[in-house]
Amino acid sequence: MIYLTGDVHCASGGHWEQKIAGQDIDNAVKYLEILKEFNISSTLFLNGKCLEEDRQKVKELLSYDVEIGGHTYDNFGSMGVIKSYIFRKIWGCIYGPVWYQRMDIKKTKRAFEKLGLTMKSWRTHSFGSNKKTSEILVQEGVGYISDIVGEVKPFDDRGIIHLPMNIPVDVVTIAYGELKPESKNPFASCTKGRINPEEWFEILKGRIDENEKNNRDSILLIHPITMAVLDDFDLFKKIAGFLSKYESRKISEFEK
Ligand SMILES: [Zn+2]
Repeated sequence: MIYLTGDVHCASGGHWEQKIAGQDIDNAVKYLEILKEFNISSTLFLNGKCLEEDRQKVKELLSYDVEIGGHTYDNFGSMGVIKSYIFRKIWGCIYGPVWYQRMDIKKTKRAFEKLGLTMKSWRTHSFGSNKKTSEILVQEGVGYISDIVGEVKPFDDRGIIHLPMNIPVDVVTIAYGELKPESKNPFASCTKGRINPEEWFEILKGRIDENEKNNRDSILLIHPITMAVLDDFDLFKKIAGFLSKYESRKISEFEK
């Protein structure tokens, strides 16, 4: 089973990918249009602020076969990078203290409710969660979180189902760091540097075929904006073609 996910950020001033390819939400529409061609279900995690910035665009997203989950209100706010640095220094977690996390999750949830939507699933921006995040999400009625990278089977943690991403993540694999031979190890690639997009696609295919053979779920994160920056979705079309061989589901449709 394929669980394809993507993160969609609000129009945050000056992110390098947005400078090249425009807003995340516009690229999310192009992404879903391609998935529609190939009959693939997906989940997009949106900043709460996205839902307030452009209600019309969000409604357009909802006309596709997609689940919308939460992705913090606005990446920790206008001082996001500095704030997450301070949070890590003081609280050991980039998502900050419990009171901040609760406030942010509630604010995001409210943005969903204002559009008549229920926030069933969640991913913290930059995978910044800790144990407290899950507890708060359970209290707020969120049942699914996909926020860990690595070969960990989906698991239930006191009322919330974790779906770890077990396929190398696009942006950290192909866009950051140096191109080095040791990066070709699919998991090392997430931390040690960059590989070519085509090589990443080969790894992705290999791992998914292997998972399917062994009856394991494949949980992917591929960002719409990253696919736009890379080659205006050319590689993504090939990926979608490949994924369409297998059955796909949304995060909150997870079944053991
Ligand atoms: Zn993010």
